[in-house]
Amino acid sequence: MGLIIIDELTGRRNDVTNETELKAIVDTAWTAHGPTRHGYASEYRQISDELLQFFFRLKESETRRVPQSLSLRFGDVEVVVTAHEEIETGHTTVFRRIRTGRKTSTAVTALDAAAFQIAADGRGEAEFVYLTGRSQDRLSMKSAQLENKKAKIADASIAILEGRFPPIRSDRCARCPYFFICNPLPSGFLRKKIGTGLPDST
Ligand code: SF4
Repeated sequence: MGLIIIDELTGRRNDVTNETELKAIVDTAWTAHGPTRHGYASEYRQISDELLQFFFRLKESETRRVPQSLSLRFGDVEVVVTAHEEIETGHTTVFRRIRTGRKTSTAVTALDAAAFQIAADGRGEAEFVYLTGRSQDRLSMKSAQLENKKAKIADASIAILEGRFPPIRSDRCARCPYFFICNPLPSGFLRKKIGTGLPDST
C-alpha cells in the first residue's frame, strides 16, 4: 500500500498541504488495499502512518517541479531512469527516488543507484530515500566506481535487448516466485528439512 500512496502523492500537481489531507489519502488506500483483515492490521496501519509522517515532514518547505525525464545511452540502447520528485534547493536540483523499505548495506552503491547518479549528472544530484529507517542519502560514488558500474549496466542492457539473459540457477531458486515458470527446473531433488531439532514426541 505504501508505494501506491507514494505514487499518488508524488504524481500530484499540487502538494498535500496538511496532515488531514494526507490522512484522507491514506484512509482511501487502506480501505482499497488493506491489509484491513490481517491479524496485525492495526500494527501495519501504525507503521504505515509513521512512514508517511516521515515522508510528509521531508516534503515540508521544499520546492518541487515535475520531474524531468532522465536517461542513459549505450549505443542504440537507452535506459530511462525515473525520479519520484525533482526538488529545487536554491543551489542544486535533487532527483529523489523513494522506497518504503529499509536501506540495505549496498543500496547506494548498487547498479540502480549508479544508473540514477549517472543519469542525474550534469542536471543535479541524485538522492535515495528509504522511509523505513528514515534514511535520506545523496548518491556520491566516485568517477572510477561509476565507470565500472556503467560498463556493467551497458553489458546488462545490451544483453537484455539481445534476449541474452539466461537464468542463473542456484539453491535460491526454491524460494523464488518465478520458480514454476522459469524452466527447465534445476537438476536434482528438493529436500525439505522437517522435524530437525524437534523434541521426540514418542
Ligand atoms: S527460479 Fe528464480 S532464482 Fe532461479 S533462475 Fe529462475 S528466476 Fe533465477
